[in-house]
Amino acid sequence: MTDKYAVLGNPIGHSKSPMIHAEFAKQTKQDISYEAILAPLDGFSDTVKRLIAEGYKGVNVTVPFKFEAFDMANDINASAVVPEASNTLVFYEGSAAAYNTDGIGLVTDIQKNLARPLQGKRVLMIGAGGAAQGVAIEIAKANPATFVVVNRSVEKVHDMQKKLEGAKEQDIVAITASSFNGLDGQVFDVVINATSAGLTDSVLPIPDSIFTSNILAYDMMYGRETPFMLQARSAGAQVADGLGMLVEQAAEAFSIWRGIKPDTKPVIATIRAL
Ligand code: NDP
Repeated sequence: MTDKYAVLGNPIGHSKSPMIHAEFAKQTKQDISYEAILAPLDGFSDTVKRLIAEGYKGVNVTVPFKFEAFDMANDINASAVVPEASNTLVFYEGSAAAYNTDGIGLVTDIQKNLARPLQGKRVLMIGAGGAAQGVAIEIAKANPATFVVVNRSVEKVHDMQKKLEGAKEQDIVAITASSFNGLDGQVFDVVINATSAGLTDSVLPIPDSIFTSNILAYDMMYGRETPFMLQARSAGAQVADGLGMLVEQAAEAFSIWRGIKPDTKPVIATIRAL
């Protein structure tokens, strides 16, 4: 019997997840269906309950429901504890277990696909919203030399610092909070844009001096060249968008559901060529 999965969001029409999971299923010969479902803004948990009753095996969760997914889950996997948000639910015996695969997706894309190990490197993350909170713990666990986070509203960075300090993982690198002004004169190896500024083509107040030819400038957004990417590219930096992260977080979810890890490389190439 075909096992049913879906991605829930609002809006959801733009989602590439059905295509990605169809590619994974074909490659690994798994008998699954995967659809995009628009959940009403006030009806996320009702939608999840309906899908559980209809025999679905799990869902991915996207904006704006990742925090609600965490709140309604019966079990919380370690990956979702620090983010307090979930992008992957596993359904079992009428219950839901919450996972977060965004951090692994980002770190795998940077370290494996882009061949940029984070250990011992100086990492800057811009942004402290939902996506940034989701990936912070995995970046810290990759053991960079320094991990600086800058955000317009600095209290969100302090919140992130506290969450990481409270994490059970031992010996993870602590976050250093910075203001945008404080970036002047600082040097990094990897700069990650986890803001949504690219959605509105807004230019971030980051000094040109942080972009050198040696750094990786990674924008978690995909589908368009953002002002962040343009600024970094014109300074000669290696530039990447978040498409690889999208496919890697999906591969991790697929592996949690199906117990088999798909090969992401051909899928990234297929989605990028569309
Ligand atoms: P949120 O709304 O939760 O957070 C937005 C963040 O961007 C905040 O830190 C906010 O700062 C900052 N921000 C927005 N506009 C500006 C601006 N003009 N100048 C400076 N800072 C700004 O969004 P998410 O965290 O959910 O999403 C962020 C990005 O990550 C999106 O582009 C999304 O597409 C991408 N993403 C990619 C994924 C992938 O798989 N590749 C997965 C998940 C997300 P402040 O707090 O001060 O308002």
